[in-house]
Amino acid sequence: MQHRDSIDPQKRVDEMLSRLRGRDFRITPQRLAVLKILAGSMSHPSVDDIYQEVKAEFPTTSLATVYKTVSLLKELNEVLELGFPDGSNRYDGNNPLPHPHAICMKCKKIMDPELMNIDALSEEMSRKTGYKIFHHRLDFFGLCPDCQQKN
Ligand code: ZN
Ligand code: MN
Repeated sequence: MQHRDSIDPQKRVDEMLSRLRGRDFRITPQRLAVLKILAGSMSHPSVDDIYQEVKAEFPTTSLATVYKTVSLLKELNEVLELGFPDGSNRYDGNNPLPHPHAICMKCKKIMDPELMNIDALSEEMSRKTGYKIFHHRLDFFGLCPDCQQKN
C-alpha cells in the first residue's frame, strides 16, 4: 500500500499559528495540543479522537474547546473537513488542500495516497462545464485490506 509523504508537522503548526494570530486567538496549551495533533496526524481524526488525545495530557480540556479550535482552523482553510451525512466528520490538518480519499465503509479508516491526474480531471471538469473550479471533493468508498481479510 502506498501512503503519501507526511508534510512536516512543525511547518504545519507554524502555518496554523501564523493564521490564528491574525484572529486574536489566544494560544493555550490545550489549543496548541489540538493544533499539533491535527498537523501531525495522517489518520484523519474526528473531533472526539482529538478530544480524547488532548484530554490524556490535559484532563481539564472541554470538548467545546476542541470544537472551537477545529472550526476556526476550518474557517481559515488550515484544516480540511471530510463531512459525512451521519455527522461523523473527520479532519486533515496535515494536508488542508483538497485531495481524494479512500474510505473504508467498515472500520472507517481513511487513506489519501498521492494520485496522478487530479489536476487534469479538474481542468476537464472546467472545460466541459465552463465553471471556474476552486476546489473539489472526491471520496472513494470500499473495504480496506484489513477488512477484506476479515470477511
Ligand atoms: Zn477497514
Ligand atoms: Mn487527507
